[in-house]
Amino acid sequence: MKLNLSVQIFASLVLSVVVGLVLGDGAIGPVKTWVAPVGTMFINLIKMMIVPVVLCSLVVGMTSMGDLKKLGRIGMKTVGFYMVTTAIAIVIGFAVASVVQPGIGMALPGEAAPKVKEAPTIMQVFVNMIPTNPIASMAKADILPVIIFSLFLGAGIISVGGSRSKLLINLFDAGAEVCYKIIAMIMRLAPIGVFCLLLPVVVQNGPKVLLPLLSVIIAMAIGCTIHAVCVYSSVAAVVGHMSPVRFFRGMTEAMVIAFTTCSSAGTLPVNMKNTEEKLGVKRDIVSFVLPLGATINMDGTALYMGVCSLFIANVFGIHLTMDQMMMIVLTGTLASIGTAGVPGAGLIMLAMVLQSVGLPLEGLALVAGIDRVLDMFRTTLNITGDAAVAVAIDATEKSVPTQLEITE
Ligand code: ASP
Repeated sequence: MKLNLSVQIFASLVLSVVVGLVLGDGAIGPVKTWVAPVGTMFINLIKMMIVPVVLCSLVVGMTSMGDLKKLGRIGMKTVGFYMVTTAIAIVIGFAVASVVQPGIGMALPGEAAPKVKEAPTIMQVFVNMIPTNPIASMAKADILPVIIFSLFLGAGIISVGGSRSKLLINLFDAGAEVCYKIIAMIMRLAPIGVFCLLLPVVVQNGPKVLLPLLSVIIAMAIGCTIHAVCVYSSVAAVVGHMSPVRFFRGMTEAMVIAFTTCSSAGTLPVNMKNTEEKLGVKRDIVSFVLPLGATINMDGTALYMGVCSLFIANVFGIHLTMDQMMMIVLTGTLASIGTAGVPGAGLIMLAMVLQSVGLPLEGLALVAGIDRVLDMFRTTLNITGDAAVAVAIDATEKSVPTQLEITE
């Protein structure tokens, strides 16, 4: 079903290119009047879900950590590793995209480029991150304050604990499920949405729209390889005292499953089995670090946000400032916590990151057409990162007796 949908989306991308090339720029008037608005309706549907999904999924992500005090040392260490590797992933995404420059030949004409928000300085960003009124931030779809509020809400719920927090956990959990279902419904309209968003672009720009899409895929593939080889090899070797060759050999099975299913959550059982049996990580570490990682650690998704935001900026001829890039690293890292481990979830979170720096959401249509391919790379990186951190945590915990051993 899911695969069918992505085939449909890809087919609609191809169709929009073919129809657009056949029609040529003479048809731009009617296409803009009748087709483009349908694309805008699709984008609005996605926008509609950003605030609810961020709120619910971040609270669920936080509360899935359970009792913060009890998990203490391991929890903080794991989350620390996750955050740092995720931030590095976005930076690698930017770096590769700055070299490959996906979308650069495609710059849409000036009037097509929606106005980009005035970029605030990084200190302003930190000040504005704290909402004075979370409801107002939600109403304005001001993402960063909503994220911060959600994190506090999650932390508050964890520390209240007991039956009262259970009620809220269940509520947000159900809310997140409902959001995912609604998003799935919206995504069923994606073939139509993508066609209507792309047709005007192709009609106006002709065949030069194709090459940039290929360059996004190439940038993703290069970025993921660099991140895996440099960051995970170092984490495994330096912190985990495991040779990178052994690490990647042990991970092959899980990586193949992730590549084909595009789901971290779906790959979790295989990843847990691999990490325990082939990489020799202790069971209590595996059963804490990997499920948490499948929920909150998405390096591939973060890298994708770096690559795609630069791609979309290039497509619309927008120059990203350093402050905007820092903002993307910040929101991207936080957004990846809230990304569900299911196919296509990263695309919705990309909408959120774009919105946070005022980049045009219309660029999503271009990415959506090739998203399944990008998802294969990012999901593979996502689950490999979880295992690398498990290896590292296992090594650092070897000298410290675990809670289990103390009680035994
Ligand atoms: N499909 C990814 C995963 O399951 C999430 C994403 O779409 O970025 O890890």
